[in-house]
Parts: sequence; structure tokens; C-alpha cells
Amino acid sequence: MNGLEAATIQCPYCWELIEITIDCSVSSQEYVEDCEVCCRPIVLNVILSPDGLPDNVQVKREN
Ligand SMILES: [Zn+2]
Repeated sequence: MNGLEAATIQCPYCWELIEITIDCSVSSQEYVEDCEVCCRPIVLNVILSPDGLPDNVQVKREN
């Protein structure tokens, strides 16, 4: 399974819940996605479980 999975995260700036799409073809990834509410850059750290589903999605503010 290497598809796309939806996940909900909380923006670390405005605390709104945002739905994102995770590319499950990469087992561990860090990337930046702009918040759709406040437009600030959220650093996402995605860890996938062995069956290819998002296991842990961490968010932090960009330094
Ligand atoms: Zn935001």
C-alpha cells in the first residue's frame, strides 16, 4: 500500500484543525505545508507504520 492517506493535524500557530494528504510511498518524511487558515509554514514530520499507514504525524513551527 503506497497510496495517499488523509490525516488531520492542528496548526501550531492558530490551532485550527487542518486536513492534509500524506504520500505513503515514503516511510519517513519531513516537509513544510502552509496552513490553509493562517498561511504560515508548518513543518510536518510523518512516520509510517510497517503496513504503510501514517503512524505518527508531528507538527512544529518553522524556526
Ligand atoms: Zn494556522
